[in-house]
Amino acid sequence: MILKVIPWRSDWKNFLAKKITINMLKLRGHHLICLNFFRGHGYDKKFVENLQNILKNIEELEVVEGLDDVCRACPHNAGFCNYSRDSEKEVKALDDFALELLKVKIGMRLKWNDLRMKITGVMEKWRKIACMKCDWKGVCDA
Ligand code: SF4
Repeated sequence: MILKVIPWRSDWKNFLAKKITINMLKLRGHHLICLNFFRGHGYDKKFVENLQNILKNIEELEVVEGLDDVCRACPHNAGFCNYSRDSEKEVKALDDFALELLKVKIGMRLKWNDLRMKITGVMEKWRKIACMKCDWKGVCDA
């Protein structure tokens, strides 16, 4: 029975690759920072559950441009960020700012725990520029 669930030695590589793929989330720039401050709030139930699931399973991530695995369950995802009239442009600027502060680039793969260690060092600048205009500021400050 055990042999059925434990991969043969030659299959270990595939087994591990599959596990990495499952846990390899795609996150855009500003979500690399903002996800650290999730307090259970969100646009709707589906959005909140997706965030909870992401944070429960996240180990490694790939930095992406544009819509990511958070946007995937967002009611404002219209194939672009449709949160407000100028949000697509504003959110992309936030992404770029986050990448610049964190010194990471699109396409990089990062360990979530390594990323978290960097967050404290960038928060002073992030708060001054990004948080000031954010509708969720009250949630993070609470
Ligand atoms: S509001 Fe825009 S950037 Fe934020 S999760 Fe929704 S689609 Fe993505």
